[in-house]
Amino acid sequence: MTQAIDIFLQEIADIFAFTRKDALEMIVAFHEEMENGLKGKRSSLKMLPSFTRRPKGNEKGNVLAIDLGGTNMRVLAVRLLGNGKVETIGVKRFSLEKDIVSKTEDVFFDFIADCVSVFLKEHDLDFSCEVGFTFSFPVVQTSISSGILVSWTKGFTVEGVEGHDVVGLLSKAFKRKGLESLKLVALVNDTVGTLVTKSYANPLCDLGVILGTGTNAAYPERIDRIKKYKGPWDSDEMIINIEWGGFDRIKRTIYDEKLDRDSENPGNQRMEKMVSGRYLGEIARLIIKEAFNKGFFGAKAIKDYFSKPYSLTTEKLSLLASDGDTINASGTESISYEDIWAIKEIGRTVSKRAARIAATAIASVVTHMDRNLASEHIIAVDGSLFEKYRGFREHMEIMLEEIFQDSKDKIQLSLTHDGSGIGAAIIAASLSFR
Ligand code: ADP
Ligand code: MG
Repeated sequence: MTQAIDIFLQEIADIFAFTRKDALEMIVAFHEEMENGLKGKRSSLKMLPSFTRRPKGNEKGNVLAIDLGGTNMRVLAVRLLGNGKVETIGVKRFSLEKDIVSKTEDVFFDFIADCVSVFLKEHDLDFSCEVGFTFSFPVVQTSISSGILVSWTKGFTVEGVEGHDVVGLLSKAFKRKGLESLKLVALVNDTVGTLVTKSYANPLCDLGVILGTGTNAAYPERIDRIKKYKGPWDSDEMIINIEWGGFDRIKRTIYDEKLDRDSENPGNQRMEKMVSGRYLGEIARLIIKEAFNKGFFGAKAIKDYFSKPYSLTTEKLSLLASDGDTINASGTESISYEDIWAIKEIGRTVSKRAARIAATAIASVVTHMDRNLASEHIIAVDGSLFEKYRGFREHMEIMLEEIFQDSKDKIQLSLTHDGSGIGAAIIAASLSFR
């Protein structure tokens, strides 16, 4: 049996391989999709104008930020010191339970407003200040302080939000909860926030990337290249939210196809479903299930443990990879060392491909901005997948080296904490500062 599972694992490794050739082909396709998106032509990359540019580093003030991620929501109060430095006055995390993210619009936004109230009380703050709202979903903005949700991603299904202005909905909730003194001045995507936070401190930063529940990125684009934007703008650059999770020109396996078919948003977010934290555990689970059905695993406990969709989280997979956890199967039957080894191997295969695709997406955007890598590029990366998944970052570095060889050092990945929240605060402050 050992041999048979080895052959199965090798087949899995083969179909999940993402080679240098695949990467170079993906870069060409990615450039085409970026160009088309910027022109307003059909593209799997939405290339959304953010109505903001990079900060100068001298912006000052006290501001509040609300950071709505995929798994958590955070409220932050920060002080910008004006020399590229940010002081956090307070921060509180609230978890977004399933029963909140699947309710109706009023329940959802009341929840957010309540969290802000709790935060202000706890920190004894009642300043009527500017608020930046980081909303990490695809939004079509018409100004810095308004934007319409295109479609929910990452498992959210709150009714009455798609097609509506999320700032308007949150403002109404603020009114209902007596928080009308807070001024919602900036609607920011988490990728934009991450880029802005790092570039506030370091002007060499020109890409913000999220590798968390979902995946996406934002970069500063020359205004003359944003062909679809005809409105007024007071700078030569505007940050573009790529929405790269939607990129769909990558070959998929039968496991990716199954995951997609059974998801809340079939056909959408194809790259995200191959790369991000919400999905890696599930891809691994589908492979484990297949291996079990083929009779490769000894213990029936494995079937029970992995039978429910999304029961294997990416966090769990990561803990297994770093030997920080074992599978706590119910019942008396224990899972053999060999079986656990095979499960870990599946996790390695799935996460390695994810990291290589993510690195290739970074390489695509960098070469769109700077074809021959003439300058240095600091890439701000936020998200638990990048930060905590053992080997993820290393696999990304290896892929970048395969792509760029000797020039690889021109690209530096830099973990950026809380960028998604602090960036919104920086943008909010810069609006009152200008
Ligand atoms: P968000 O995307 O909501 O801002 P995070 O950046 O924390 O939040 O990403 C959450 C995702 O990261 C989840 O999908 C979770 O499974 C995954 N995750 C959490 N902890 C770990 C870990 N230790 N290793 C790998 N992935 C993790
Ligand atoms: Mg986040």
